[in-house]
Amino acid sequence: MTFREKPGASNRPSSNGEVKIVSGRSKPVWEYAPSTEAKDHISLKNRYDLFVGGKWVKAKKYFATINPANEKKIAEVASASKEDVNRAVLAADKAYKNVWSKLSGKERAKYIFRIARIMQEKARELAVIETMDGGKPIKESKGVDVPLAIAHFFYYAGWADKLQYAFPGKKFSPIGVVGQIIPWNFPLLMAAWKIAPALACGNTVVIKSAETTPLTLYKLAEIIQEAELPYGVVNILSGAGDTGSYIVNHPKVKKIAFTGSTEVGKIILRSIAGTDKKVTLELGGKAANIIFEDAPIDQAIEGIINGIYFNQGHVCCAGSRLFVQESVKSLVVKKLKQRLKTLRVGDPLDKNTDVGAINSKMQLNKIAELVQSGIDEGCTIYQPECVLPDKGFWFRPTFFTNTAQSNRIAQDEIFGPVLSVLMFRTPKEAIEKANNTPYGLSAGIWTDKGSKIFKMVSEIKAGIIWSNTYNKFNPASPFGGFKESGFGREGGVHGLKEYLQV
Ligand code: NAP
Ligand code: MG
Repeated sequence: MTFREKPGASNRPSSNGEVKIVSGRSKPVWEYAPSTEAKDHISLKNRYDLFVGGKWVKAKKYFATINPANEKKIAEVASASKEDVNRAVLAADKAYKNVWSKLSGKERAKYIFRIARIMQEKARELAVIETMDGGKPIKESKGVDVPLAIAHFFYYAGWADKLQYAFPGKKFSPIGVVGQIIPWNFPLLMAAWKIAPALACGNTVVIKSAETTPLTLYKLAEIIQEAELPYGVVNILSGAGDTGSYIVNHPKVKKIAFTGSTEVGKIILRSIAGTDKKVTLELGGKAANIIFEDAPIDQAIEGIINGIYFNQGHVCCAGSRLFVQESVKSLVVKKLKQRLKTLRVGDPLDKNTDVGAINSKMQLNKIAELVQSGIDEGCTIYQPECVLPDKGFWFRPTFFTNTAQSNRIAQDEIFGPVLSVLMFRTPKEAIEKANNTPYGLSAGIWTDKGSKIFKMVSEIKAGIIWSNTYNKFNPASPFGGFKESGFGREGGVHGLKEYLQV
């Protein structure tokens, strides 16, 4: 990365891409040169059919998926109808009975391992497509989404022939056909979280991508073909909510693994009540990120930034409620303002971008509406100045002070780059306020004292609690919620249990 002063230059990136200087100020403002990730190595079809029974199958209807950073169409994808879902489930059922449930764990492991290896070879292509289709910064898809997705396949490949050690002395068997439905915030990663343990345990899969981000799942379908996975073991569909409900309600689907909103989670639970289907739900969150006065404040600021602005805040475990101890509140708010000014919002394919595009127009409207409610309810908004691109869906990183727990912005999941700053005086008050939400997915604690960490961890009702860090993931570590954040765990040994009858 080169920085060079060019006196008198305009405040737009120059075409040779080297400097941005805001003229007319006593001090030049140094800027990064554009550093766009190349796209010439990716291969995308104009149109994607459904991946059913190991083959590409045409659908009656197709819809466009766009790049939210420029609103341009990237490709068309099939919309799976009820008949298409039925075909996919029957293919998965046949593959389960005839092939996959009969293979040894060692043989299943080889296939899963092969998928992981091919993903590694195509990591750069997967990252670029993930960023184009969903709007997330390339540094995140390259550094988090894709490597973590690969790590999940490697991790569960390792378990496939060792299940007896995961459940010593127990009898267990696979479940059969599992239906999996994922959201748009981490498409490939969510697919890996779901497909890898299901295959390791001997199940077959019908998975649906979210409407706005179908492409990396179809790239995964190509990888699955290349890995020569037996036909029908994994079937990949795109489509809207209806497609999801056809999967949920198909009688041959024996388990549902759903990640998405609490609202749809409730619909799913209602529709399978009274059936013998197993279900895991990974739903929404409104996590408390708690900063004590004895915390390393500069590190905590980075943790707050990572907690809420990572992936534009489209993160179920985002640290969207910041609780700061009274004595350090003004210091934290001051430092947070300074740090926000340095966040780079813009082209997701630029390697220096920190905050990319909002995933869809619909999500942008939802964020804007909730932010307006914060303003209307008298909270104080802070947004750094930043030039947003003309096309695409964008929202400035935002935080609110003068916030009460009763404000909508402190209650509802915004799923965007918006933080509510709240205050507490004692650990007891922090625990009470942190738990004052219908959700219970995650939390963060920042303090110098181990004893305080243990006390907080034992009393906060959340599935994942980070101390002196935030948003750290590992395939060996289980993930999941309490209360309205859902039930069941993904990752680790806990994640295996969800795909077996033990
Ligand atoms: P969503 O509306 O619930 O959608 C999730 C998935 O369900 C999508 O594939 C969606 O299809 C599909 N769907 C919609 N209606 C359905 C129905 N009636 N039956 C079956 N499937 C249906 O959620 P979202 O807005 O995409 O995602 C954001 C939410 O997911 C947030 O609340 C977030 O917290 C949560 N989330 C949770 C976790 C976790 O692990 N706990 C992780 C990521 C996200 P369409 O795309 O066509 O709508
Ligand atoms: Mg898209």
